[in-house]
Amino acid sequence: MKVYKAQLIKTVYNIEDLPPPDKKEIAFAGRSNVGKSSFLNAILGIKIAKVSSTPGKTRSINYYLVNDKYYFVDLPGYGFASVSKQEKERWNILMNEYFKNRFSLNAVSLLIDHRHMPQKLDYAMVEWLKDLGTPFLFILTKSDKLKKSEKAKLFEDIKSSFLTYGEYIYLPFSSKTKEGLKEVLKTIGEILGE
Ligand code: GDP
Repeated sequence: MKVYKAQLIKTVYNIEDLPPPDKKEIAFAGRSNVGKSSFLNAILGIKIAKVSSTPGKTRSINYYLVNDKYYFVDLPGYGFASVSKQEKERWNILMNEYFKNRFSLNAVSLLIDHRHMPQKLDYAMVEWLKDLGTPFLFILTKSDKLKKSEKAKLFEDIKSSFLTYGEYIYLPFSSKTKEGLKEVLKTIGEILGE
């Protein structure tokens, strides 16, 4: 698909404030600092507001209306070491309510840093999505930081580490070089039934 228009239309702090589920949507999740904002900037072609990176600050679900037709949803990042227990609990409740009840959600893109093996919370996220039955795909971020041989090896290692959960699509991506941009947009377009 081609993104020709994208605008932030809603910042949601409480689940009751989600926009009506009248459009197909795809959500983007990942650890804090994985490169999600940079990724969204690249695929949407706009500079998105960065609202969720400061520990302790209230995190929100950000709704982008794309081509007047779809919602691209920026979910709050997880895994900040210095986040309070209360804040983690708030994240859990918000995400649980979102995934369980959002029937217009077509898929989740899970962003994983291509340079490292996934961490405990990444596996927890996959386990969770799998149980809920939400389709998902993996975007391997910051790919430009790897040498070709390292990249190929990590690609296989990351993929293998999720094999017990199922077979999924893995797309390497770099917001710096724009590697993978076309493939990502093509895959998202297919998921949304473009
Ligand atoms: P977020 O917390 O997941 O939204 O992550 P950001 O998009 O803010 O990125 C975190 C850091 O990683 C920033 O310093 C970015 O410049 C850097 N970064 C993000 N994506 C890439 C990438 O594809 N390549 C490189 N080299 N750096 C990246």
